[in-house]
Amino acid sequence: MFDWVDAAAADREAAGLTRRLRSRTAEDDVLDLASNDYLGLTRHPAVTGAAAEAAQRWGGGSTGSRLVTGTTGAHTELERELAEFCGYEAALVFSSGYTANLAVLTALAGPDTLIVSDAHNHASLIDGCRLAKGQVARAAHCDPRSVRAALADRTQPRALVVTDSVFSVDGNAAPLAQHLAAAREFGAALVLDDAHGLGVLGPGGAGAGAAAGIAGQPDVVATATLSKSLGSQGGAVLGPERVIRHLISAARTFIFDTGLNPAAVGAALGALRLLRAEPGRAADALRVARELSTRLAEFGLDTTAPDGAVVSVRADDPEHAVRWAAACRDEGLAVGCFRPPSVPDGVPRLRLTARADLTDDQIAFAVGVVVKTR
Ligand code: PMP
Repeated sequence: MFDWVDAAAADREAAGLTRRLRSRTAEDDVLDLASNDYLGLTRHPAVTGAAAEAAQRWGGGSTGSRLVTGTTGAHTELERELAEFCGYEAALVFSSGYTANLAVLTALAGPDTLIVSDAHNHASLIDGCRLAKGQVARAAHCDPRSVRAALADRTQPRALVVTDSVFSVDGNAAPLAQHLAAAREFGAALVLDDAHGLGVLGPGGAGAGAAAGIAGQPDVVATATLSKSLGSQGGAVLGPERVIRHLISAARTFIFDTGLNPAAVGAALGALRLLRAEPGRAADALRVARELSTRLAEFGLDTTAPDGAVVSVRADDPEHAVRWAAACRDEGLAVGCFRPPSVPDGVPRLRLTARADLTDDQIAFAVGVVVKTR
């Protein structure tokens, strides 16, 4: 029955596209520019301490669906503080950013809705589009004119414009204010996935919505992950109170999923409070990313100036990307290796994530290793 998986594996191997798991050990002695821990908070004592405290207080699991027993006082606190920090009326915490995206698309788009989705959107938004009952139009990447054309042509009474705020592969930002203007012109709402903007963009890291001056608008809904800047795990939707109320009663990935683990809720709350107390961290992450990309470009590497914490460097082909990433690791630097199908344009890349806490020496070391091993 499963002989075919061996044939598929052989094809993948021949194309340089095999994925392999690698367990981290506590002793790993590498400089980590592969994780999404943009602010370097995941091991901060205020974060791990808040996680431990929440586990002690609420238990090792949340014990049930959010609607039954899975909402603790910590969930409610996190929702209130996250909404306030990012500038939205209300927030709802999910077990991941992935399920938050599925929730928004399936609960806000029906058969009478056109979803206009950026061509480079994250897989979780694409899967949300597939699951939603609405029709989907693919808009050219970061192109408000293409969004406008799709909206103008539609026959459906309702429409959503859906985009990553900062794209996960190249770290470039979407023109959010222009997208919202296009959406408004045609009576549509804007959904932005702020996985890579929260904690990095906007005042003190309040996110891309705040940076663009559109957070809290009545026709804007944002999603976020707690697993990147906030050093934890889980996801959230932020937006108008009535939209959040709708999701509580209508979003299947909210209703039929166990509530987020209290330790993860505690960790995210700890990180959020730290971010408010030390607002310089967000700007540091961006500064480090720009420094990395500028220096790599000076050595002739194919990289683009990042708008967020992600810096990508184009490789020749998938095998080159794998070899390059492995050579970096041998030299003591962990970087991400992105290959099809994880890249929207088929171009394989190394992906370096800037961390707010990187020192000048670490930046110089990382650049040296990437250049030397290319
Ligand atoms: N959206 C984007 C843009 C992402 O990069 C990610 C995470 N890789 C997600 C959503 C999913 O978030 P989570 O990992 O919390 O499920």
